[in-house]
Amino acid sequence: MPDLNAYPPEKLHTLAAAFDGEQLLADLDTLGAIGWKPGAGLQRMAYSDADLEARRWVLAQMQALGMQAWFDPAGNVIALLLGREELPALAIGSHTDSVPGGGKFDGALGVLAGLACVRTLRSQGVQLRHPLLVIDFAAEEATTSASPTGSLSFIGGLTEALLDGPAWDGRSTAALLASQGFDVAAMVANRPPLSIAAFLEVHIEQGERLAAAGVSIGVVEGIVGIRRYYAHFEGQANHAGTTEMARRRDALVMAAPFILAVREAAVAHGIVGTVGRIEVHPNAPNVIPGRVMLDVEIRGLDEAVLDRAEEILLAEAARCGGTLHFGHRKEPVPADPRLMAAIERGCEALGLRTLRMPSGAGHDAMNLAAICPYAMIFAPSEQGISHAPEEWTQPHDCINAGRALLAALLEVDALLDV
Ligand SMILES: [Zn+2]
Repeated sequence: MPDLNAYPPEKLHTLAAAFDGEQLLADLDTLGAIGWKPGAGLQRMAYSDADLEARRWVLAQMQALGMQAWFDPAGNVIALLLGREELPALAIGSHTDSVPGGGKFDGALGVLAGLACVRTLRSQGVQLRHPLLVIDFAAEEATTSASPTGSLSFIGGLTEALLDGPAWDGRSTAALLASQGFDVAAMVANRPPLSIAAFLEVHIEQGERLAAAGVSIGVVEGIVGIRRYYAHFEGQANHAGTTEMARRRDALVMAAPFILAVREAAVAHGIVGTVGRIEVHPNAPNVIPGRVMLDVEIRGLDEAVLDRAEEILLAEAARCGGTLHFGHRKEPVPADPRLMAAIERGCEALGLRTLRMPSGAGHDAMNLAAICPYAMIFAPSEQGISHAPEEWTQPHDCINAGRALLAALLEVDALLDV
């Protein structure tokens, strides 16, 4: 049976033509100016004054669109558009906080594309079947000890203990929150205002795959799992001048082929693998390294592939005379196949090419996955640059991502009866 569009494609065309791309671009500029420091980029770290100013601006835009909008206890800005049927809500959105020295597209594009969709629905007199929540999640970036904080609180997954660690300003996250008037107990008790049937997030790709393929819409298959390891190589520290080469047990020379093996295993399995930290003892120019510790990680979407790569890393570490120990691990978070297909059908109706791809970075959608199915739409990042003032997504790509969200939203609204 062919995959039929749940929402009539000709109606979709009419609505996509009414999508106000210029207003979306103007909104990106206006929001991007809040907390922007010349030479230092976007300084809108979680719960800073600039971050809260930006959220108040987003709230005002939601209200101007006739939505009921409010701050929840975590500082998430939530707006509700009523549906015409008694159904759980659809949710769209992303975040507007930034890393220190960030760009104006990361997160903001997803929130403003959501507002642009509502603007189109309002101007065309279209009411969805489902209620719609547009959400600007707080503190998505890893600038607090509980990131992404806002979406974690939203799903009821936050604990007080998670807020003990440091935030970007050096204080504990709890102290930062208290200084801005947030009530930690209320954040922990926070829950979604309605039950949610699906979450759709637009985000910049933060990589170069879309640009390299010449495709404007990425359909995220899932957020990759992360496995971290510690590799340990034990040799014998000794005098670098008097010890003959044949008699050395140099731990760094043992570790070197293992570092290359991590790269080879990643390439062979179609995943990414990194040795990002190396500790050499005693780390002196005239001493043969006696001990080397490496931090290793691999990331991929498929647990079975990660299992196979892991077996190779264990064997390679042993072959090199070392040992590999297990560290932190995060499971992959797959996107919902029905929602992915809905995005693709919507894009096809609009003549937008799509490419399926994993997300190597974490997003709010990762937290939402605990309470509802999710899917993500990626927009191309120029030269793959993000978390930097130079971060850029072409205007037509921003608009296409917004239209793709609108098409996906209508498709999902027609498709889901829960
Ligand atoms: Zn982001």
